Amino acid sequence: MDNSLLWQSVLANLEGKLSKPTFATWFRNTTIKKIKTSEVILAVPNIFVREWLQNKFNKELLLSLRQFSPKIKKIKYVVLNQEGAKSQKVGRKNDLAQPKIEFYQNRLSGLNPRYKFSNFVVGNFNQLAHACAISISKNLINTTLNLGNTKRKLKLEYNPFFIYSKVGLGKTHLLEAIGNEVIDFQKKRRVKYVPCPNFTSEVISNIREGSIEKIVANYSQFDALIIDDIEFIAGKERTQDVFFRIFNNLTEVGKQIVLSSDRPPRAIERIEERLRSRFEGGMVADITFPDFEERVAILEQKLEERETALPKEILEFIAGNVKKNIRELEGALTRSLVIFERENSLEKVRKSLKDIIEEPKKRISPEKIIENVCDFFNVPPKEILSKSRKREVVFPRQVIMYLFREELNLSLPSIGVKLGNKDHTTVGYACEKIGEKVKKDGDFVKTLETIKERLYNT
Ligand code: ADP
Ligand code: MG
Repeated sequence: MDNSLLWQSVLANLEGKLSKPTFATWFRNTTIKKIKTSEVILAVPNIFVREWLQNKFNKELLLSLRQFSPKIKKIKYVVLNQEGAKSQKVGRKNDLAQPKIEFYQNRLSGLNPRYKFSNFVVGNFNQLAHACAISISKNLINTTLNLGNTKRKLKLEYNPFFIYSKVGLGKTHLLEAIGNEVIDFQKKRRVKYVPCPNFTSEVISNIREGSIEKIVANYSQFDALIIDDIEFIAGKERTQDVFFRIFNNLTEVGKQIVLSSDRPPRAIERIEERLRSRFEGGMVADITFPDFEERVAILEQKLEERETALPKEILEFIAGNVKKNIRELEGALTRSLVIFERENSLEKVRKSLKDIIEEPKKRISPEKIIENVCDFFNVPPKEILSKSRKREVVFPRQVIMYLFREELNLSLPSIGVKLGNKDHTTVGYACEKIGEKVKKDGDFVKTLETIKERLYNT
């Protein structure tokens, strides 16, 4: 495999597992410079990244590299200026599968322009939240600033607007889409998006410098204040005080506040009652899980954004298996793109997704095990059930016993009965013997894997 494709595959692997900012922070501008026999020389943009990758990600990267290229034993991290890294860039075809990462953030608003309404898929699971978000942004766009605060026609029932859901279901996307929509249509609107952890640390440093009034004034000037993951404010009393003041300043003059959280207001512990009742006093909407068709629609949307395509069966396979998290759905898609481009096979894609997909094991029967093993070792089933002690019969029989035990959880006596009334101690001995072999004999393990694969896939 070519180095850049190898690295893309590794990144695609990781992308689904890490949060966007983490992924972006540590993996942008990294490339494989070369591979010296078993050592990968990885070019990274600076020392800081090198330290981090070495200390925190080395094991994970190595495992992932070895998945694609088992001969790799070691990674050497070298700092390379960006020029060098860029010259390694690959052609367009491979770029297609490369996770698209945008690092650009609007400095003033804190918004990432990637999150729009136009690339947000609406379904039953997020309809209410989406409708509110649209209504809020329309309102912010259409209200004339010059009329003065008293005449602003904000629908107060939407203020604050509080969205909650489990992780990876579109809160951040929707929050930022509101902001982006507003500044796209009304450049003058002062919109601020801030993740709660950032807000909190800003408050703390202002407290330290004795400039609380400054931060309160600063945040009270926006037309819309969007704070993501507000649950982080729990237990932080000073930050809650500051936020309460900002909240009042803004809502008193009809400015919009939008919040997100991983749980409803009543479930956030250790926040002041007055804040909780403010949160509940506006519009609260949740996002649940997308259903199968909605997941397919999301995958199609993501493919469109990447200007690429995949067979419908693959999309349906992904959608049928990744159900609870849209970020993971995207991660699976990215990986599938890489694999499918390389192998052009649904089976390979299916395999490559094995570790993120909990595919229920197909039900297999004792008969099927006998049939498969006999077929594999080329012995007639009749012999297996007989009393024969010939080695070429005994060994497959022991493998069958072992598989009955491991795959079907059958008891030793019932295994004996099923195989021509053998004694349970004979079965016990067989299971033990094969178990030992599995521990010691790598080639045998491969054989067993092959048998199992045929068992479950035919
Ligand atoms: P949360 O903030 O709830 O953890 P995010 O907003 O970060 O989730 O969403 C995770 C990923 O899923 C993002 O890449 C986002 O673009 C995508 N996503 C979430 N919901 C949708 C949707 N309805 N349509 C398209 N993409 C979505
Ligand atoms: Mg989020």
